[in-house]
Amino acid sequence: MESYPVISFDNTEFAFEYKSDKQLRKARFLFSLMARSWIVKLGVRLAPWSVKAGLPVKGLIRNTIFQQFVGGETLEETARVAKKLGEYNVQVVLDYGVEGKEGEKNFDHACEEFIRVINYAATQPNIPFMSVKVTGFARFGLLEKMDSEMHQAEGTLMKRYLQAVDELNAEEREEWHRVRHRVMRVCETGASENVGVFIDAEETWIQDPVDALTILMMDTFNKQKAVVYNTTQHYRTDRQQFLIDSYHAAVERNFILGAKLVRGAYMEKERKRAADRGYPSPIMPDKENTDRDFNESLKFCIDHLEKIAVVVASHNEYSNLYATQLLQERGLPLNHPHVHWSQLHGMSDNITFNLAHAGCSVSKYLPFGPIRDIVPYLMRRAQENTSVGGQTGRELSLIRKELKRRHNL
Ligand SMILES: Cc1cc2nc3c(=O)[nH]c(=O)nc-3n(C[C@H](O)[C@H](O)[C@H](O)COP(=O)(O)OP(=O)(O)OC[C@H]3O[C@@H](n4cnc5c(N)ncnc54)[C@H](O)[C@@H]3O)c2cc1C
Repeated sequence: MESYPVISFDNTEFAFEYKSDKQLRKARFLFSLMARSWIVKLGVRLAPWSVKAGLPVKGLIRNTIFQQFVGGETLEETARVAKKLGEYNVQVVLDYGVEGKEGEKNFDHACEEFIRVINYAATQPNIPFMSVKVTGFARFGLLEKMDSEMHQAEGTLMKRYLQAVDELNAEEREEWHRVRHRVMRVCETGASENVGVFIDAEETWIQDPVDALTILMMDTFNKQKAVVYNTTQHYRTDRQQFLIDSYHAAVERNFILGAKLVRGAYMEKERKRAADRGYPSPIMPDKENTDRDFNESLKFCIDHLEKIAVVVASHNEYSNLYATQLLQERGLPLNHPHVHWSQLHGMSDNITFNLAHAGCSVSKYLPFGPIRDIVPYLMRRAQENTSVGGQTGRELSLIRKELKRRHNL
């Protein structure tokens, strides 16, 4: 019989054990700034412009928001943070956070950089995964074209994918071949170095080719164990069915389905595009529906762990705890090799460190890269921490609670 520890996300002692008083006070200051939407709005406008214009703001960014959410500017700097997290049994998903750089030269460079990241991760005791965005390897316009061709075609995802490739002109087909080759090299290196590759989900209007490519990679590299993971965004109305279909494909083709479950990061953008162009919104009508879909999908994965390796990628306390309950109800260990939890660095330490303390396999997404390249990622974190109703309030109250606990001891 398994025996299970009691897990409480209110335990701030475990949550912030890795932070000194000074670091906690700094985090308190930062989250209280982010609670003011006018400051975030101003920052989101000014920061990218100031960095581009070469104004001396890098020091300010480095000492505030960058330090909170990012591992470092280089892999070597990031190693220090990874090591620290490792001391508390928290693993790391390395995320080379350079986004939106178009051009074949940049795509090739990103591919080499990802391979370097994997080779580095392979030498470290607590970096079992890295994450990639296919838009780091492919022209957005080409992905959009592939997606739109796939929508016009009929049949299974793979049939539609093959038809879409046929519709490309010779030059585009060559370009797509290079994209495939880059993704293949990254996954191949992951497989040989034993480092898992999470493929992030992005906008719905480029997602079909990303899904097809990812499933092709799983079919190649996930025969013995999960190396490649696809991401499903459960704010989408169609993702639970897509997950179930992916599971059936895994059974039929005999591979392990790597399934990273998220709620989804592009809700406003998705809804706006659908409204502007007059097609039905692909997003759930409300948060309750997203939550239900996420939790049901999580249950589906835990019911099929023989063929699915699941990653609970969320800051939602209920969903994270629910995963532990599902394991307990089935008498499965909390450190089951096919169940992993993950949160973004700088957020929800109360979830990550308490899960780690209970013996769960849990990680932080740790982005790294030059400040000027990572600004878009930072701006998303700032906006998220303002707009996600209770998140900033929750972070602040936990930090305050811990400072109080330490000093009343
Ligand atoms: C490790 C990790 C990896 C991630 N990778 C990706 C990725 O590859 N792609 C990606 O898109 N996102 C990714 N995300 C972000 C994720 O999708 C969410 O935006 C974020 O985590 C907030 O959702 P939550 O589950 O943490 O919790 P919560 O705070 O409970 O949920 C907030 C989310 O619920 C949904 N929601 C809110 N209001 C509504 C509404 N009115 N109607 C419908 N839905 C609503 C939105 O998705 C919103 O982001 C990742 C997050 C983590 C922690």
